[in-house]
Amino acid sequence: MRFLKLIEFEGDYFVYDVENVNLYKIEESLFQSIITNEISINDIIPLKENLVSISNERFLTNIHLNVAQVCNLSCGYCYGVDGEYGLKGKMKEGNALKAIDYLIENSGSERTLEVIFFGGEPLLNIPMIKIVVDYCKEKEKINSKKIKFGIVTNGTLFNKEINKYLNDYNFNVVISFDGDKETQDKNRPFRGGKGSYDSILPKIKTFLDSRDGNATARATITNHSKELLHYRNNLKEMGFKSSFVQPVTLSDYSKENYDIDEVSEEQNLKLIEYDKNEIKELLSKVKKRENLDDFKGSKYVLYLKQFLSKTKNTQYCGVSRSMRGIAVNGDIYPCHRFVGDNKFKIGRVDTKNDGAEEEFDIDFVNNHPQCKGCFAKYYCGGGGCIHNNYVKNGNIKELDQEHCIKMHHKIKSLFKFYSDLDINDRLYLVNELNFKFS
Ligand code: SF4
Ligand code: SF4
Repeated sequence: MRFLKLIEFEGDYFVYDVENVNLYKIEESLFQSIITNEISINDIIPLKENLVSISNERFLTNIHLNVAQVCNLSCGYCYGVDGEYGLKGKMKEGNALKAIDYLIENSGSERTLEVIFFGGEPLLNIPMIKIVVDYCKEKEKINSKKIKFGIVTNGTLFNKEINKYLNDYNFNVVISFDGDKETQDKNRPFRGGKGSYDSILPKIKTFLDSRDGNATARATITNHSKELLHYRNNLKEMGFKSSFVQPVTLSDYSKENYDIDEVSEEQNLKLIEYDKNEIKELLSKVKKRENLDDFKGSKYVLYLKQFLSKTKNTQYCGVSRSMRGIAVNGDIYPCHRFVGDNKFKIGRVDTKNDGAEEEFDIDFVNNHPQCKGCFAKYYCGGGGCIHNNYVKNGNIKELDQEHCIKMHHKIKSLFKFYSDLDINDRLYLVNELNFKFS
């Protein structure tokens, strides 16, 4: 049962959810009904319409802006089907600038915002990227905000001028690249089927050289993929300072039209083993007092910080809370993955936001039967990726059990290996976490 406290103070009435640090303002009549036992305090949280949430305001901090729903590659596992999401085209200036206004207007007291250029292949619309960046620079001054930029690209269009532009504006760059020739050419060919590895590799290397390796590789693994360490080592050798591998989430289209499938049970077990080795490696570095630079971006760094500071994470990701996906035509979605699926459209950049996004702001850790009782809930945040839940189970609230199994293993591994550290190891770890990863 929740620990709810009823509070009357100087003519105002509140319900305070102590465990979840949520404050709700209520009308005096509702307060009186609780006092006279007409209604139980424990029954009022679901009566959302009677509660004005004070502490739970969630502001928008980042948007994925689909400046190009077209692509020059034809990746077999692309959930947007050739990056088009059923709405082929490039974003026009009107929608692009309104999207920035929408971000700023809904950002409340947040000072630092981020625009992530997405697609398709966003660099196919570099003129619009430049227009948006210039507009953000204008707007950030007027609104006292700092707007950072990010891009998720396939790397095919890197050249001297683009590299310089992305570096000058300090873009956070994620490059989708599958790690070796065989895998990249199979999964990520050009339109028409020609392999892309030989063309992209030198471009990525030049780009990485231009910014001291500061970019992240995102490799997708499928049923055909090899050992994860093989990819990780390849990407490191190429010069990436950070990389992550992500099991594929396939649309029905991909399943039906490409010789590609989700990772097998055996591969999932290997993924668990891979995670275990990561924390083992991290903590053996701690024992040897080596620096932890290689673990920048590792989930374990985050979990360790949470563990040590006893922080409760109550959201898996920012879907529909701090983030939105904006389609090429100005439609708004809970996140970039839902773009193009009309069931999930929550508004438009040019009309007033009517709060439709709240439907996707689900409090899994407190309300979902499985998450409520899960020992790892405050590391996971609850629910997992709701897009994944939807693709796998047809329902955003039906959990992807593979996620839960992996999450439980990750946290158990964290507990085990942390318990193997002595007091001096722990002091070294805390010091590294505070100074290098704050
Ligand atoms: S691991 Fe699974 S059950 Fe546990 S909180 Fe996350 S989604 Fe819920
Ligand atoms: S719902 Fe899934 S795809 Fe969307 S932001 Fe969350 S984790 Fe990412």
